[in-house]
Amino acid sequence: MTDKHGLQQLKNIDRDMILHPQSTPKEVSTNGPSMIFSTGEGIRFTDMEGKTYIDGVSMLWNVNLGHGNKELAQASYDQMSEMAYGSQFYGNSNEPAIRLAEKIVDKAPEDLNSVFYTSGGSESNDSAFKFARFYWQLKGYENKKIIISLKWGYHGVTISTQRATGIKEFRAFSGSSDPYIYNAIPHLTAAEQGDRTHPDYEKSIRGLIEKHGSNNVAAVIIEPIQGAGGVHIAPDGYLEAVKVLCEDNKVLFISDEVICGFGRTGKHFGVDHWGIVPDMITFAKGVTSGYFPLGGVILSDEIKQAIDTYDQDIPHGFTYSGHPTGCAVGLKNLEIIDRDELTAHAAEMGVRLQQGFDNLEKKHSTFTHSRTVGLLGAFELMRDRENGVPFKNHENESIAGDFVSEGSKRGLLIRSFDYEEGMNILAVAPPIIITKEEVDEVLSILDDTLSFIEEKWLSL
Ligand code: PMP
Repeated sequence: MTDKHGLQQLKNIDRDMILHPQSTPKEVSTNGPSMIFSTGEGIRFTDMEGKTYIDGVSMLWNVNLGHGNKELAQASYDQMSEMAYGSQFYGNSNEPAIRLAEKIVDKAPEDLNSVFYTSGGSESNDSAFKFARFYWQLKGYENKKIIISLKWGYHGVTISTQRATGIKEFRAFSGSSDPYIYNAIPHLTAAEQGDRTHPDYEKSIRGLIEKHGSNNVAAVIIEPIQGAGGVHIAPDGYLEAVKVLCEDNKVLFISDEVICGFGRTGKHFGVDHWGIVPDMITFAKGVTSGYFPLGGVILSDEIKQAIDTYDQDIPHGFTYSGHPTGCAVGLKNLEIIDRDELTAHAAEMGVRLQQGFDNLEKKHSTFTHSRTVGLLGAFELMRDRENGVPFKNHENESIAGDFVSEGSKRGLLIRSFDYEEGMNILAVAPPIIITKEEVDEVLSILDDTLSFIEEKWLSL
């Protein structure tokens, strides 16, 4: 164990020598890191101060099997001992990559039967954009380059995927004005079904395809349940309408399943809730439960067969595409999910979580708009939910941000989304191994935190 002095030293080194991802540089470079993670077991982790928390969002919605899983550690050890790394370039391969592909394809809908591996979500979406454009080139449609994504969609942080991300700050940071990527307004079911009288018709996917001409549009990318934009579930009829629209206009449908994939929502993939078969699925996070960085694109037969006619090297691939250790961990992870029936379990625990949310709504006047699909859930806080009056920020802090701090004092770490003043969304997405008793424990901490927060903020 590092003593107090040693811990302070570590914090100083971190403060001075690490530029943190997705953090406020001025804050971290002044105060050092907020938490240094140390150990984890099941749904809990402990930091180096010795404080234990329930991991209410599975870190970054990825640690689906929870912490300290020895079977995943063993799979990694075994593969590293045999052959840690071998590349998939120049037509080479390795057994874990092959076995994992077979397993993924088995779970993927209908004719999505092949896998291209990457090291994470951004690379997967970036690859899918390139495959979409390449596919159309091969088919003789040189101009089909535009990618349409949705406002509040999150697709990664490479130049192209950050551009596709429909959250203002992200787009601004990428500094890119890629003329080929547009955001549509999400969930305009009627507009996507062809209602031209819809007031936002021009900003719908359909409106954008019409404006730019289907000859110029390569693909649409959608998370069936938007995650980092604030857990927004596609309403029934919407994805179905987008799918028909894509088919009618020769536009590929990419489903970003980086959060939704592999059981979290109570089905293999998010699209399975609506019976949609996309042209490509992108995945990462849950494929290894975060025990190794791995991602990929699942391709339809049509796209794979078109690409298979190409008789030169495709100049696209990552050093870690098909990493044997990552794939061995992924394979073990999916085997455990199947063996322990964790997808059905996530669905069941999600129902329990939603019932708990419904009770919290009855008890707390500020609690509203709760939603869950399996163990991907969220709720919102409003000053007056009946009249739609939001909480304004107080001294530069949002109620959602304060809720996260207060929750963490009570031993539960969740995540807030407050991109705009008045937006106070809190996400709850614990590891899918969570038990009934543990769901109740999460709900009880939410209940306590709500009582405290309501009293404080309603009197401000
Ligand atoms: N797509 C979605 C839906 C995501 O949630 C994320 C990560 N939060 C990404 C893509 C990007 O993945 P990564 O951070 O592994 O590049």
